[in-house]
Amino acid sequence: MTELTRRQVVGLGAAAAASLASGWRPLAAASERLAPTRQPQRVLVIGAGLAGLAAAWELVEAGHEVTVLEARSRPGGRIRTLRSAFADGLHAEAGGMAFSTHDANAGRYIDALGLVRGEFGEAGLRDLYHLGDRRFSKGPGERINWPYGLTPEENQLGPRGLVNQYILDGLTPEAAVPEAWQQAQLSVLDSVTLADFMRARGASEGAVRLLSNTMWFGAAIEVASMMSIAMADFPSQIVGAAGFVLQGGNEQLPRGMAARLSRNIRYGIEVGAIQEGHEQVRVHGRQAGEERAFTADRLICTIPASVLRDIDIAPALPAEQARAISELNYLGVARTFLQVRRAFWFDEGVSGRAHTDLPIGQIERHPLSDPGAPDARSILESHVRGPHAYELGETPQADVLEATLVDMERVHPQIRHEYEGGITKSWTSDPYVRSGFSMATPGQVTGFLETLKKPRGRIHFAGEHTSIMRATMEGALRSGVRAASEVHGAST
Ligand SMILES: Cc1cc2nc3c(=O)[nH]c(=O)nc-3n(C[C@H](O)[C@H](O)[C@H](O)COP(=O)(O)OP(=O)(O)OC[C@H]3O[C@@H](n4cnc5c(N)ncnc54)[C@H](O)[C@@H]3O)c2cc1C
Repeated sequence: MTELTRRQVVGLGAAAAASLASGWRPLAAASERLAPTRQPQRVLVIGAGLAGLAAAWELVEAGHEVTVLEARSRPGGRIRTLRSAFADGLHAEAGGMAFSTHDANAGRYIDALGLVRGEFGEAGLRDLYHLGDRRFSKGPGERINWPYGLTPEENQLGPRGLVNQYILDGLTPEAAVPEAWQQAQLSVLDSVTLADFMRARGASEGAVRLLSNTMWFGAAIEVASMMSIAMADFPSQIVGAAGFVLQGGNEQLPRGMAARLSRNIRYGIEVGAIQEGHEQVRVHGRQAGEERAFTADRLICTIPASVLRDIDIAPALPAEQARAISELNYLGVARTFLQVRRAFWFDEGVSGRAHTDLPIGQIERHPLSDPGAPDARSILESHVRGPHAYELGETPQADVLEATLVDMERVHPQIRHEYEGGITKSWTSDPYVRSGFSMATPGQVTGFLETLKKPRGRIHFAGEHTSIMRATMEGALRSGVRAASEVHGAST
C-alpha cells in the first residue's frame, strides 16, 4: 500500500489499539432523517457539490420546496471523474479520491443509490521513490536507507512507522469522533502545526521532511493546524477503517444524488450577490449573460470560502464571520494526467506510483480501482499541492504537460516513449474553487469553525470548510445534512 493517499490503513497507533482493546470502536454517526414537515419552506441552495446535494436531498425528502443554483453545467463540484480525455474507457479522479468505511453519511447515500464500492487496485508491486536526488523502489516490509539524515531508529521505522510514532501514538481515540473537537485535550492541538507536533514528540527535521514528501498530508505539514489534521485526516487510521472508491468513478455519487433531484437543480447560474430581508432572502445571479433573481424563505450557501469572500452579502455579515471567510487558509491543488500506451512499469516490477520531492509532487496511477496490466493503456498523474499548484494554475496546459514529462522522465525514464497525450486539472484556476480545499492553520479551527457554520438570519452555511472533517467528502455531506436540519428546525 502506498504512503501517498488516504487509502491505506496505516497500522494502528497506541491510542487506537487501546480503544479497540477496550471494545470501544468510535464511529462517525450517520445523521438522523428529518421528520416530514408540516410547514414547508421555500429554500434556495447555492452549489450542487456534495454539501448542497445532501442539504437538498434531506429537505426535499422532508417536504420542503427546494431550488439548487449551480454555476457549472454539472453536479459534483470537487468530485470530478475525467473520462472523455482518455481512450479505452479509462478514467481518472481529478477531485475527491478515497472514501473511508468510517464515513457514515457517505455510506448512507452510496447505499441509497445502490452504488458499488471498489477496492484500490493493488498489483502487489513495489512503489517508486525519487527523494534527495536518488531513485529507488521499496516493497512492503523492506528495510532501506532513507534520505534526509534520519536517526538510525527513524530510518528503521520508515514513513509508516514515523506516522505511528510521531502522530498516531500522540492522539487519543476521541480524535476519531467529530463531535469531540471542542474537548480541551483536542482543542489544545489547534495551537501547533503538524510539523511542530511531530518535533515536540522527538521527530528530527529529516523525519518531518520524509513525511512531507511521502504522505497525503505532506504539503500541509508546516502550515496545517495539528487539530485540523487530527480530526479530518486521521480518524480512519485511528479506528482502522479502510479506504475505497466507487466502481466506475466517484462522480457517480453526486450524479446519482443530482438525478434524484433533477427537477430541483438549475445549472449554469453563477450567484454574485445575496440579500437578506426581514421575510425572505433574495439571490442575484447571471445565466448566459442574463441577470437572474430568486427569492426564498431561507438559503443554504455551500460556496467555498475561497470564492464566497468575493460574493456580495447584504446586510454585511458580522465582522467576525466575514473575517473567518476571508482569512481561512486553503491548500492549492493541481493535477496533471498523462495517458500511456502501456503500463511499462510492470517491466520493472513497480506499481507506477511514486513519492517524490520533485516539482511534479506525487505520482499516482489511474483508474484507482484497477491495478492495470503490462500491455494495457493506463494513466499516470502528477499530483501537486501547495504554492507550486498556484503557479501551475497560471501556466498554459501545453507547458504544464511538457514540464511534467521532463520531471516524470527522472522517475519513469520510458514515459516519453509511451506517452499519448494528457490533460491538466487546476483547482486553483477553477473560478468556483480558486484553490483546492480548506486547510486551517493553528488557531483557525477554534477561532473560525463555529463562526463559519453559524447561520445569519435566513442564511445558512455549509460546505467542507464548515466541517471539522474539512477537505473530505464526508465532511461536505455532514455539513449539508446539518444545514438542512437547521432550516427544517427553523420551520417548526
Ligand atoms: C484534488 C482534491 C482531492 C481530494 N481528495 C479527497 C479524498 O481523497 N477524500 C475525501 O474525502 N475528500 C477529498 N477531497 C475533498 C472533497 O472533494 C471536498 O471536501 C468536497 O467535494 C467538497 O464538497 P463541497 O460541496 O463542500 O464543495 P464543492 O464540491 O466545491 O461544491 C460547491 C459547489 O458550489 C458551486 N459554486 C461555487 N461558486 C458558485 C457561485 N458563485 N454560484 C453558483 N454556484 C457556485 C461550485 O460549482 C460547486 O459545485 C479532495 C478535494 C480535492 C480538490
